[in-house]
Amino acid sequence: MDARTLREQILRGEATVLETVRSALADIDRRDGEVHAFLTVEKDYALERAAALDRELVELKAQGAVPPPLFGVPVAIKANLAWQGFETNCASRTLENWRAPYTATAVRRLVDAGAVPLGTTNMDEFAMGSSTENSCHGPTRNPRDLTRIPGGSSGGSAAAVAAGFVPLALGSDTGGSVRQPAALCGVAGFKPTYGRISRYGLVAFGSSLDQVSPIATNVGDLELALAILAGVDERDATCLREPAPRPQSVGLAGLRLGVLEMAPNSLEAGVEAAYNAAAAALEAAGAVLKPIALPHGDLAIPTYYVLATAEASSNLARYDGVRYGLRAKQYRDQAPAGGSLQEMFAATRRAAFGAEVKRRILLGTFVLSHGYQDAWYGRASRARRLLAQDYAAAFEQVDAIISPTSPCVAFPLGARTADPLSMYLADTLTVPASLAGLPAVSVPCHALAEERNGSGQDRQAELPVGLQFVGPAGEDARLLAMARAFEELAP
Ligand code: GLN
Repeated sequence: MDARTLREQILRGEATVLETVRSALADIDRRDGEVHAFLTVEKDYALERAAALDRELVELKAQGAVPPPLFGVPVAIKANLAWQGFETNCASRTLENWRAPYTATAVRRLVDAGAVPLGTTNMDEFAMGSSTENSCHGPTRNPRDLTRIPGGSSGGSAAAVAAGFVPLALGSDTGGSVRQPAALCGVAGFKPTYGRISRYGLVAFGSSLDQVSPIATNVGDLELALAILAGVDERDATCLREPAPRPQSVGLAGLRLGVLEMAPNSLEAGVEAAYNAAAAALEAAGAVLKPIALPHGDLAIPTYYVLATAEASSNLARYDGVRYGLRAKQYRDQAPAGGSLQEMFAATRRAAFGAEVKRRILLGTFVLSHGYQDAWYGRASRARRLLAQDYAAAFEQVDAIISPTSPCVAFPLGARTADPLSMYLADTLTVPASLAGLPAVSVPCHALAEERNGSGQDRQAELPVGLQFVGPAGEDARLLAMARAFEELAP
């Protein structure tokens, strides 16, 4: 059930907030052992808050006031968003047991809108990964097929929504971490224009790319989430100085959609079938399809992995055993005789970070190092500008660009862990919009292909596929309206 319907049921008195939250918690108790979407479940907090909201509802009704837009709706929070008093561990040993001393703006706004956060969700350590297998707490499993990954890095949030534990969850998207797991789990995920939603309280990975991003069962709830989460925040200097956009409506008839040109054979067969069916449905509904090339598109992956790792190496320098979280055991009470501060940093970081995080810190430090900086970081920055120019030229011809969200469906757990490059390629279709700072949304589209091709049995075997819409900067609301119009075509 979606967030708006759940709220309406509560307002109509068909369920109390306490009953709603209890049933979500019971569901998590029963089924999250196998899915492992959550790292922490804050039962006491959630039950107390639910009871308080039920009391508040009586008063609101007495005053004839309208309860806020997420009143009583259970939500889940990715474990890299600060939530005051609760563990925000980024799925890293580094921050094990670290309790946030303040609350992220995005979390605060959900709570102010009446939502009930149930807990924090699993993720790749510090949001580095595409499968949620880089979590120090073990992977999350895809609720549609428990032998497969849910995508990542916001795999826990996507799985929590796909499993039906919550109708809405927060993730973060740096290079695709919300769109790709949403696609692989068969739910909807939206990365806004860079700066649209405050990053205050989001643990930094690649600051010029990171965006807090919602995941929901449908686009209408994403539109609601955008209206709640966006807007000016004095605490984030990169946050746009514009009010939150209101939902719009867009007809498909006459809409100019760019069909992204991709290298031949770059999509898995199942993805290609679903994507072709989606494009055909859009065309049948009156959209005008036009092939669009991004001439610098093939630079996106190398550019992203230079810039994101450079920024990560700098952002993660703060985990030094002094300021936050874990310190290497042998240095906890007192420095061993002869030990230097430098050795304490090294021992702490060796013990605290997982392999992928270390790989990225090394790569990022290298591309920023003296003598290499212009060859790597400088060139990547220039490539990023060229890609942004490609998009600007494309948006003179089309209203939005469509492509699959991911070139593959959810792969089996463990299939790519030994080969980081093959893991990085999972981001080919999501990273370009991140580099250009553009809004992008993933909507499920596999049902359309099933409708066309599937007999009963094949239908069972079909794994989710997402259709991605990328739009011009600032046009978040219009982009979501298009995605909703597409969603309405699906059975
Ligand atoms: N999978 C990409 C990476 O590993 C994207 C991660 C993200 O968006 N946080 O960097």
